[in-house]
Amino acid sequence: MDAHTAQAQEMYDRICLEFFLELDSPVPSWELLQELHGQLKDAELMKEVRERIREQRKVLAQAKPPDIEAGRQCTNPVTCEFYGVCNKPRPEDHIGNLPGLSAQKFQKLKDLGVELIGDIPRNFALTKRQKRAWECVKNGRPWFGKELKDALAGLNYPLYFMDFETLAPALPRFGGMRPYDQMPFQWSVHIQQEPGAVLEHHEFLADNTADPRPEFLRSLLQVIGRKGSIVAYSKGFESGCLKNLAQWFPKHEAQIKAIQERLWDLLAVVRAHVYHPGFMGSFSLKRVLPALVPDMSYEGMEVSEGSEAGLIWEKIIHGQVDAAERKRMREALLVYCKQDTLAMVRLLEVLAGA
Ligand code: SF4
Repeated sequence: MDAHTAQAQEMYDRICLEFFLELDSPVPSWELLQELHGQLKDAELMKEVRERIREQRKVLAQAKPPDIEAGRQCTNPVTCEFYGVCNKPRPEDHIGNLPGLSAQKFQKLKDLGVELIGDIPRNFALTKRQKRAWECVKNGRPWFGKELKDALAGLNYPLYFMDFETLAPALPRFGGMRPYDQMPFQWSVHIQQEPGAVLEHHEFLADNTADPRPEFLRSLLQVIGRKGSIVAYSKGFESGCLKNLAQWFPKHEAQIKAIQERLWDLLAVVRAHVYHPGFMGSFSLKRVLPALVPDMSYEGMEVSEGSEAGLIWEKIIHGQVDAAERKRMREALLVYCKQDTLAMVRLLEVLAGA
């Protein structure tokens, strides 16, 4: 994190603090927040924060939005909710859909008058992955690397396909948590004992405002077994959650570490050995799945994003919806998490057959 980012992060944290204090939010660590607020009140940085808040209020009061060109800020650090308003739909083979294209190279191509991937000159400097994507888009065919088989050979049956859903509250809710810690509230696991075997499915979804972590862990440890690869899509996330769980529940540390060691990252394998024009530059499960498994997609699902899952779960546990709606939302959460682990099963079948 560079100094600028660190300062921005600090400033952001303080804005959050101000925000919650203004709301008079009844959080368990209220006294601590007040103490912190007292310490921060006179800090130089807070003057700047207040100044920025004033500027932002002025902008919000304007009749028309400011004239800002869409760019990296639209998706970084999170996708802006107005993304579809400011970013006009572009063709699948637009240069913006090359994986990891830097803003400078994007601009260079625009200056050359190149809008489509197929029009990028052969001698234009691209990374290995971008070159591969360029070729796939040009010939309209997917690419499966020669070393894919070796990568898949690293899998040990039984396979456990595992996915967690979490919420990262700014204010810690339960013992041992820090601001923005991922608090796990749901998991889904599909188990396959041997290649082609019928799948078993297990799941957990916390139901109320009580601390979800103990039951999340207890139920997971019951189904995860002691041997076999545990497949995750971007294993760093699940591994990070497990690391937190080990700190919160040291009694289970050895068991949790054993699970971390069995994690096998399907995203890393796809990223290194596969490309399909339908990925459109992204290796997210939402993009990769329909490209490689056309009869499966997240389109039309009531819950189709992890961030949405957290918000819906909050509504359910805080009783913000009636019983019928609660039942429907709960079902939608279960369907979503199950879809993530089934998607990994089906993806792996495609890769094994490629
Ligand atoms: S999408 Fe959001 S971040 Fe991007 S230009 Fe529009 S308002 Fe700004």
